[in-house]
Amino acid sequence: MSKRLYQPSYVQEILQKYDFYFKKSLGQNFLIDGNIVGDIVEKSGIQEDDVVLEIGPGIGVLTEELSSKAKFVYSVEIDKNAVEILKDTLKDYDNIEIIPGDILKTDLKKIYEKNHQKLKVVANLPYYVTTPILAYLMEHKDDISQITVMIQKEVAQRIVSEKDSKQYSSLSVFLQYHSDPRILMDVPRTVFMPKPNVDSAVLELKLKEKRSDVPEDILFPLVRTAFNQRRKTILNSMTSGDLNLSKEELRDILKNLGISPKARAENLSVEDFINIAKGIAND
Ligand code: SAM
Repeated sequence: MSKRLYQPSYVQEILQKYDFYFKKSLGQNFLIDGNIVGDIVEKSGIQEDDVVLEIGPGIGVLTEELSSKAKFVYSVEIDKNAVEILKDTLKDYDNIEIIPGDILKTDLKKIYEKNHQKLKVVANLPYYVTTPILAYLMEHKDDISQITVMIQKEVAQRIVSEKDSKQYSSLSVFLQYHSDPRILMDVPRTVFMPKPNVDSAVLELKLKEKRSDVPEDILFPLVRTAFNQRRKTILNSMTSGDLNLSKEELRDILKNLGISPKARAENLSVEDFINIAKGIAND
């Protein structure tokens, strides 16, 4: 194929043909660098028998590359104007289905059931909604085996950061509980049209098995409460939350685990949070 979707002149041509305007509110920054598109797909390790779920295909730059490697690509796009363009740009591919709509309202189980094969997510995510999308994917992790997403570099760094670092946050704990996150590569802002104000990174999340021994209904509120008040000691932040436990009970739980009541959220590992949640559940 002589024209490829990532070529800036071709992107311009399509945008003009369809009188398309980038919607900042939908996080529309399209890739215009073929090497980066190739690198993302290569690093995602997509193979010919994989079923891919793409979020936000835009005009189809990544979709086109993914379809050349995967068995089938499902792409969910919220923007009706982009969906119209995709009907044209991807018309020659028979292993792509465009699903119009919001990924946060898309039934992933239904997509899984089309092939009874776990989905591999690959996406250049809209930045305004990165955290809700990752949380949604974690909720549906039974239907997914792997996630490779381009996101804001600073957020990627937060997600992979370890305890005792300033960037360590409730998002780090949440995603490290569900997966092994790893930054695969940094991506400069210059490879997008329009150019965003921040750099990006490609993040891989290898999903972990669901843990039936962990009381998630206690763990997640606990982590959120602890980081919402990250300057407070863990004992104080936990007592001010909705855990309905007295200071003495919480002090005992921490003591049994060998965790100092003076520790702060950022000093606790994911395993520490899990153990505290289990201690509360057993109390
Ligand atoms: N994949 C294309 C690329 O790399 O050039 C476009 C990526 S652009 C950063 C994000 C895309 O996600 C846009 O096409 C936008 O319309 C779409 N989008 C935004 N919010 C969405 C949502 N909630 N569900 C599905 N798609 C969404």
